[in-house]
Amino acid sequence: MHLIFIGAPGSGKGTQADRLRKNDGYYHVSTGDLLRSEVAKASSLGLRIKELIDNGQLVDDSTVLDLFSSNLMLDKHKYILDGFPRTINQCNLLADKLLHDQPFKAVYFEVDEGKIVERIVNRRVAPKSGKIYNLIFDPPEVDGVCDISGEKLIHRDDDKEEVVKNRLKIYRESIAEILDFYSKLSKLHRVDASESPDLVYDQIQKLLK
Ligand code: AMP
Repeated sequence: MHLIFIGAPGSGKGTQADRLRKNDGYYHVSTGDLLRSEVAKASSLGLRIKELIDNGQLVDDSTVLDLFSSNLMLDKHKYILDGFPRTINQCNLLADKLLHDQPFKAVYFEVDEGKIVERIVNRRVAPKSGKIYNLIFDPPEVDGVCDISGEKLIHRDDDKEEVVKNRLKIYRESIAEILDFYSKLSKLHRVDASESPDLVYDQIQKLLK
């Protein structure tokens, strides 16, 4: 059973995916991470992607789908799909080109928008270990350094307040249609993502039973 994580930036999808990967044997594939690794290569595609990400805009569907599909073996492992779909067109692409008849649940991370900006601007990430910190609620032991890998923590350029507002605007434009899509298929499950990471994890565990 695959899980499709749906929710605003900063709703905790990455944090929960990391736990499910460690504790429950899921593979985690995030389109945002895949796109950022393409940016890190500094290829011409990477530079084009960087400009879109830095402005909080969406990358075109075919680029994201290509990257996504070449990193999935849906018939071999159970996956958390994080960051895709982000539009109704991507819902259709995912169903027709990737999932086919694979079993899945869509998990919607519901969270009050007021909390989101605060969560994101205080987010710091460790790209290698995948650990996500929050400077207020879950800071690292040593300032600016990952507890697990010792690598330097990063404040993503698109986690700065002005860009976050644009990302949220784009999110708001599509979320209702996406929820409707999965609700009509009776695949939609909601979790209260304003709770602590431990309590959100417990809610997801109940969905897996
Ligand atoms: P995330 O790490 O999921 O917050 O994604 C960071 C950025 O990557 C987004 O703001 C978009 O610019 C881009 N991105 C990630 N997933 C997608 C997607 N499914 N479609 C288009 N752009 C995406």
